[in-house]
Formats: sequence, structure tokens, C-alpha cells
Amino acid sequence: MYHISDLKKYSRCPRLFQLDRTAEKAPFQKFIRLDEAVTDLAKEKLGIKECFLGARNDPPELALEALKTEEWLVKARFEYRQLRVKVPFLHRNGDGWDLYFLFVGLYPHADDRAFYCDTVYALQGIGLNLKDIRIIHLNADYVRKGELDTGSLFKVSDCFYTANNNPSQNVKDMITNSMSDISQIMDEMDRLDHDHPEAPVRTSKCTGRQKCRFYDSCFEEEAALPHNSILTLTGARYKYRMQSEGREFLADADPELIEGSPQQYAEIMADRKNGLFIDRMAVKTWLRSVSYPVTFLDFEWERYAIPPYDGMKPYDVLPFEYSVHVLHENGDVSHNVFLSVHDDRQELIESMLKDIPGQGTVMAYNAEGAEMIRISEMAEQFPQYARQLLDINSRMKDMQVPFVSGMVYDTRMAGVWSLKKIMSMMNDRSYKDLDINQGMDAVYNWRMLDREESDTDSGQIISQLKEYCGMDTYALMVVYKWLKEIAE
Ligand code: SF4
Repeated sequence: MYHISDLKKYSRCPRLFQLDRTAEKAPFQKFIRLDEAVTDLAKEKLGIKECFLGARNDPPELALEALKTEEWLVKARFEYRQLRVKVPFLHRNGDGWDLYFLFVGLYPHADDRAFYCDTVYALQGIGLNLKDIRIIHLNADYVRKGELDTGSLFKVSDCFYTANNNPSQNVKDMITNSMSDISQIMDEMDRLDHDHPEAPVRTSKCTGRQKCRFYDSCFEEEAALPHNSILTLTGARYKYRMQSEGREFLADADPELIEGSPQQYAEIMADRKNGLFIDRMAVKTWLRSVSYPVTFLDFEWERYAIPPYDGMKPYDVLPFEYSVHVLHENGDVSHNVFLSVHDDRQELIESMLKDIPGQGTVMAYNAEGAEMIRISEMAEQFPQYARQLLDINSRMKDMQVPFVSGMVYDTRMAGVWSLKKIMSMMNDRSYKDLDINQGMDAVYNWRMLDREESDTDSGQIISQLKEYCGMDTYALMVVYKWLKEIAE
């Protein structure tokens, strides 16, 4: 028996499908927090009072039986030609059924059409007459005030959305036009299921949107590559070709086969100059725009699918921690960390406004993609502090800029531009020494605190979270000093 997720893996890579069938299931921690039983909330939106409610290991006959009598079927399990599908909502409509997909996101896009088509394939296979197909999804404009209002929290759409989130194709039309007979694919999956794994073939799907979880075992040899390997060349379409032509190192890159980005130039030059490239003029100009006191800032936050507190929208974030290191011109340093559990946004803002000096540069790593956005969101949710918050944003500089714009590259970065990687080159404290040393680990640990899980050692988690966030701003300060040093 197969699920739609198996079809998805097969279409990405037959070997992935095979390995996944036998591999131990990877522990799964959700990126996005979803504490609520979202199907129950969606049931409210659809006005479902009585229904057949399916469950995980239901035999398919149960749902088939329910089709004879029920008005609504929720989470019903059906099977057709070994394909087992879970159907969020089916509503009787005369001699047929209306199908509702549940999308726990803001804008359903047609790029996930295979999932929708495969579900409809199975339902049509068992002879269901589908009259209409809609998608129930979260409403991006909903702002929570008091109790959750499921009527406004969800939207029911009969269309998909474009990449810019504008309504586009009708759901039923798109599915009907994209449907194909997947019986041959299922036969091939059957064959593969009883065969040895295919040999690994590197394609863009190996690293695509998300690196395949079997990548390291498929291409073991890459783990032992030197940090100046040609394979570390950023955004290089032909790096494997160059490697196969005997160009093993960055310094050997073929000028005809690279894209010529400033990052690539910095990487190649670094390898030709004993490992470090620096565009001194550019770095000095960047440093000249930094003024004292310099505040290094970092937030930790949780992202919720369903807004838990007033003023929040679906997929809004709740900052729960910040760390600031303040470096004064005379070399003095002060450090503060704020950590809250549940909703202390206002307290966090008030504390941060006290801890960040009214003058000087505020610096964060990937500031434009994270800290500045968090601060703008706070200004929107708490307009009484908007002026001071936006003033911080006006003084913000992104520490990432000298690295990602090709002003500086050290081959020890091995094509990775994260603050952790850069910090690992410094002869200083290391993230590895911390009990919490990854951003998502910090979030998972905070979740245990926030949910008040019984076996949680709150004191220990709080101190580890403070250490981790504090390390980020300490690292920013160390890297800033290093930039000054190498620019001289
Ligand atoms: S790493 Fe590539 S070849 Fe290996 S299983 Fe994943 S997608 Fe397939």
C-alpha cells in the first residue's frame, strides 16, 4: 500500500522512494507551531455538526459504508489500486459529493497539484461523483481579537493563487486538466519496492528546495572534500563538470564555466591568496558607516500557524527572546538577555528599548531578512512604541553584507555564509560547546517551556536559551572586530 507522500518521493527520485520505504522514520519536529486541532476548527467554519470521522488505521470499507448514509465525511480513508488517501472533507451534494481540501497555509498554490490530482484520482477510481472541489485555508487578513473566530480565521476558495498571491485558476478545472493515469507509475513503484536501490544519480532534485535526507549517504565522498574544493563554489552550475575535468580546487575554476558573481570571484581569489580574500576598500567603506556605541542584536521567535494572542495574524511570529551586546568606543562591553514564556511582547519591547542605546549602529546578521522584519511587526502590533522601534531599524546594518556581497571570503567557510560557520574560524568560544547550538533547537526547547510540559527542567532550559542567544550577539561582536582587524 502506498500513500501520496510515496508518489511524491518517487517523482522526486526513485532511489529516494526506495530508501525511504526501509529507512527508520526521521524524528519530525514542526517548523511551524500548530497546537490546535485544525480539522475541528475547520469543521466549525464549514458548519459540520454530525459527520463520519475517519481515523489512522481505518479499513477502507468503513468510509465506503459511511458514503451510503452520512451527509459529511471527515478525514475518511479510501483506497484505490493500493493508493491510500485521506480526504479532509466530503459533503453530499445530490447524487454526488463536494470535496474540500484543507490547506493549513495562507494561499494554496497550484505547484502542489500532484497531491490534489492523486487524491482525486483515487476518489474517481472508487467511483465517486465529484461535483465541486474547493480548498479551505487560513485567511491572511484575519487578526485575532479575543477568542478565535473560525468564521474569519478560514477562507473557502474555489481557486488557486499565483506566486504573488492573486487568485488564479479554478481548483476543479486545474485538477481536471492536470489529471493523468498514474497506474503505470504505481506498477513501477511496485517493481522498485521489491528491488535493490537504484544507483544514486545526482540531479537538481538532490538539493532542490530542501536537501534530500539521504544526500550524505548517496554521496559519501563529498563529506571528505577539502574546504577549498571546487564543489564549494557558490551558485556554480558547472561545478561537477569542472571537477570531472580535473579542476579540483576553487583556484582552478574555469572562467568560461562560472557565472562570475562577486561571491564566486571572492571564493576563487581567496584560494589563490592562501585562503583569505578581502576587498579592503569596500570593507573599510562599510566599516566607516558604523558608529559607536555598536549594538549587536539577535532575536529568537516562534511562528504560529494559528494566532495564539491578540493582534496576531495566521503565521505571525512571537519573539520570545533577544540578546544585545553593546560595544562602546573605549572597548567597554555590556550584555543583556531578555527571555519570556507565553506572551510578553510588550515587556520585551520595553526592555529592549531600554537596552539598546538611543544612538549608534545596531547590527544583526541577516538583519533585513529577520531582525528588521521582527521590529516592523512589533511597531505594527504596538503602535505606541512605533517611533522608537522604527528608529532602531533606521540605524540597523546587516553584518551579512560584507560576506554575501563578495567583500570577504575565507576558504574555511567552505561555501557556507552562516554566522556559526564564520565564528567557527575564530580562535574563540564555539557554538559546539553549547547544549543548545541551533536556532530550531532553541525554538523546540522554548516550546517545552511554553507548553509547560511536565518533564521540562525550566531552569536548565532558560539558562541554555540565554547562553545560545547570547552567543549569537557575542559572535557578531567577535566577527565585527575581526573585520576591522583584517581591513587594516
Ligand atoms: S540524494 Fe539524490 S540520488 Fe540520493 S536519494 Fe536523494 S534525490 Fe535520490
